[in-house]
Amino acid sequence: MKVLVINCGSSSLKYQLIDSDAKEALAIGLCERIGLDVGYLKHTPAGQDKVVIEAKMDNHEIAVSMVLEALTNKEHGVIADLSEIQAVGHRVVHGGEKFAKSTIITDEVIKAIEECNDLAPLHNPANLIGIRACQSLMKDVPMVAVFDTAFHQTMPEKAYLYALPLDYYDKYKIRKYGFHGTSHSYVSSRMADFAGLDINNSKIIVCHLGNGASISAVHNGKSIDTSMGFTPLSGLVMGTRSGDIDPSIIEFIAKKENKTIDAIMHLLNKESGIHGLSEVSSDFRDINQAMNNGNEKARIAFEVFVYRVVKYIGGFVASMNGVDAIAFTAGVGENDPKVRRDVCEYLGYLGIKIDEEANQVRGEETMISTSDSKVKVAVIPTNEELTIAKETVALL
Ligand code: AMP
Repeated sequence: MKVLVINCGSSSLKYQLIDSDAKEALAIGLCERIGLDVGYLKHTPAGQDKVVIEAKMDNHEIAVSMVLEALTNKEHGVIADLSEIQAVGHRVVHGGEKFAKSTIITDEVIKAIEECNDLAPLHNPANLIGIRACQSLMKDVPMVAVFDTAFHQTMPEKAYLYALPLDYYDKYKIRKYGFHGTSHSYVSSRMADFAGLDINNSKIIVCHLGNGASISAVHNGKSIDTSMGFTPLSGLVMGTRSGDIDPSIIEFIAKKENKTIDAIMHLLNKESGIHGLSEVSSDFRDINQAMNNGNEKARIAFEVFVYRVVKYIGGFVASMNGVDAIAFTAGVGENDPKVRRDVCEYLGYLGIKIDEEANQVRGEETMISTSDSKVKVAVIPTNEELTIAKETVALL
């Protein structure tokens, strides 16, 4: 089955046309600068060079129509006819407490997603624009919404409630939701297979370490806790996000620097994390290079990042009363041997031993623990688009 996977942002739209039987992408691409003066469609058919088309895209419907044209184009297209697209899977960031799994999109579902807009004001409205644009151009094609938050809906109250007056949970649904659910779900299930574990009798920790980063504790295939919270700002130190901080710091900065709440939220989301600490970059490739050149701030940023990861792993081992396997995934987790080694060095008390040679791997599914390690540790590349495509097919 050919499934178009759409991940729509406020001014961008990422897509992949996936053959769910062959489990491979036929084409991937991105529309950038939607609604601005000049926009770009970057389209890469599998095994071929990227095609860049410059065009003004006034809205998402125009962007989707350009994507459909690119997919059927005589030169760089990958299908003869639009009728070959049998379904569309949409990534939706926030499903609140309403969606604990993926769902076929109906008018009621769209309304329910809209009701979650408050919880993800930057993302959900954009996701809905993408859904509507596709619906208007592919009228009879079934569509499915796959939520970033859904996998974590199995967390128990003791994990998702904040110790605020309960009224705030009742009135506004302020609680931990967790994100990157599609990745945590895929990677934990792949890790179980790869390590020869029965998922229904397993304790797995997934470290999704990318520009955004989160860790989850997956007990018997279900998420029981995760590091991101009400929003994707909490938990680990990230590329530009602070992760956990003492909430009183917000008031302190506001007074000292005469900043508004909006300005502080921008600071915490965009100017903090590895970028803010290192004053070098948010990208671990630059951080590694700077460390190799003796840059102290880069070294400190790296250490703060690793230390936070270790503390979350330790906490989740305690939550599950043990751990069978730890998976590293996403940009940093898949590609940075030093991050993995330094994290695992702290975990010697769990009987974890890393095979240094195997750990040099980048982006390939690989067991990096030694055969006598008490806990299996592996690199498991994530594939959120393929997971969205599979969920879409499963539902239809
Ligand atoms: P993601 O958000 O999963 O796409 O991850 C993007 C991040 O992965 C980048 O910002 C880098 O910090 C990191 N990354 C990508 N490639 C490498 C690499 N070869 N070595 C170290 N870090 C990398």
